[in-house]
Amino acid sequence: MTKKRVYEIARDLGIPSKDLLEALVALGMPGLRAVSTVTDEEADLIREFFRERVPPTPSEAPAEAKAPPKPRGTPRPPVVAVLGHIDHGKTTLLDAIRKAHVAEGEAGGITQSIGAYQVSVHERLITFIDTPGHRAFTAMRARGAQVTDIAILVVAADDGVMAQTLEAVDHIKAAGVPMIVAINKMDKPGANKDRVLQDLAKLGYTPEEWGGTTVTVPVSALTGQGVDELLEMILLVADMEGIYGDPEGKLEATIIESNLDPTRGPLATVVVKNGTLRERDVLVAGSTWGRVRALLDHRGARVAAAGPGTPVQILGLDGVPPAGEAVERIENPNEARRIAAERARASMEERRAVRAPKTFEELIQIAQTKKLVVVLKAASTGALDAAKHELGTLKADGVELELLHAGVGPITESDVLLAAAEEEGQPLVVGFAVRVDGKAARLAEQRNIPVRTYDIIYDLTQDVGRALRRLLGPEYREVKVGEAEVLQTFDIEGVGRVAGCSVRAGRVVRGGRVKAFRNGEEVFVGEIASLKRFTDDVREVQAGRECGIRIRDWNDVRPGDTLEIYTVEEVLV
Ligand code: GDP
Repeated sequence: MTKKRVYEIARDLGIPSKDLLEALVALGMPGLRAVSTVTDEEADLIREFFRERVPPTPSEAPAEAKAPPKPRGTPRPPVVAVLGHIDHGKTTLLDAIRKAHVAEGEAGGITQSIGAYQVSVHERLITFIDTPGHRAFTAMRARGAQVTDIAILVVAADDGVMAQTLEAVDHIKAAGVPMIVAINKMDKPGANKDRVLQDLAKLGYTPEEWGGTTVTVPVSALTGQGVDELLEMILLVADMEGIYGDPEGKLEATIIESNLDPTRGPLATVVVKNGTLRERDVLVAGSTWGRVRALLDHRGARVAAAGPGTPVQILGLDGVPPAGEAVERIENPNEARRIAAERARASMEERRAVRAPKTFEELIQIAQTKKLVVVLKAASTGALDAAKHELGTLKADGVELELLHAGVGPITESDVLLAAAEEEGQPLVVGFAVRVDGKAARLAEQRNIPVRTYDIIYDLTQDVGRALRRLLGPEYREVKVGEAEVLQTFDIEGVGRVAGCSVRAGRVVRGGRVKAFRNGEEVFVGEIASLKRFTDDVREVQAGRECGIRIRDWNDVRPGDTLEIYTVEEVLV
């Protein structure tokens, strides 16, 4: 018996999977997903049902019946990034998608890469960020830009989940975007899809076909097998997510790539998320500004405007803004120039300021957040497991330690970027028996991200423990400074009982903490309210002298009691 997937039936019927799934619920088949399989009989039933009815075309869809609340604007093309381990086929997959789906006959095909391209599937557009790997992805996030709507995690079926796969998963998780797993190289003899599914399940990403929620699609970037299903899934996930943009709304666009062209000057590619970017607009991006001289689409063709979900290259900025920088439209060119100049000055000052050496304590600021977010790298899987285990034992009440990413290998720029993109907690990058590469060190200095490496696991745990406790603010400790014996007591009206004491050791200090003992048992713990020598208020009284002590809120002090005096001191953790 052959089995069909729901999305395949939807494709046969020429309707979006989402519409079919909604209809299936009405048909009494709830709980199915686009990748769910149905038996032949069920498939026939579904087809029958749709033949009887006039097939609902997307335009006729139940729009009036239940107009869903639109967040803002209209659905726009989803922006997709491809991440995964090196050599698992990210570039090949991006090429395969581009070759197969960029609308044919348009301007003689692709002549240049602008860092992103668009494909058309079922007359809908999908925008792919063309620079594979999570460096670009995280570089953008580190600047607060969330360009990607959906992430594709590429895992080679002959290799399974590897170190950078884990890293990519952590980056995607931190970004909070939906993930689709492309299990690539299915054409290879050693391909083992189940192993990849198992690896994913172990990571807590149970595949849909095993009853979980992780969408997986087996593909071969080389033969093209499964690529259409992958695109189908992207559209489906986009529909589920509800990805909207308003062409008339406020311009929201982010730089994804930029470079200096020897003849045309600075070229910057942006992805527009909302609003419409037009020729002649005056823009500010970071500390650069300019009037748009020309807009080029991903095929190098000149366009007058770019709406939501579209990548476009801009000519006309006066400099090369970094990836992740937001682009703003400013009406007045003078105002735009002023803003850009002001930012350039501020960033110069900032750079100068961070040059000053910072201690570990200064870097681990007493943050408002009570969370320490750690990126951990170690020399081997054994070392990594050991370090992970040790960090797992660290506890401090009221603060949380989150292991954002743990991987094998040196501390790289990507690790620092991941930490720098952290918004909710105090980031910290630590390495166990690994080195920090030069770029990572420079970036850490620029961004004020503490990076530390250790050769002894004990030192690592000590330091991270310290960082964790510092988040709570300073710690205090009582230090015993003296001891006094009560000789007699006086009850003074309106004041309370005063103990006439002889200081036996150390000193008694005003405002100090006091513990009272009677026959060797602690009977009261409190604070010295007043300290007098004869009739004078004094700050402290040394051993061998006598004094009058009144204890706050305690009138039961008796002759013969022993008073231990403590001061409270801040402990440097
Ligand atoms: P990236 O480092 O993730 O961008 O990987 P590449 O796209 O450069 O691919 C690495 C190698 O795997 C290249 O030699 C590709 O030809 C090969 N490759 C990529 N996808 C497939 C596939 O689906 N099947 C097979 N057999 N080889 C593939």
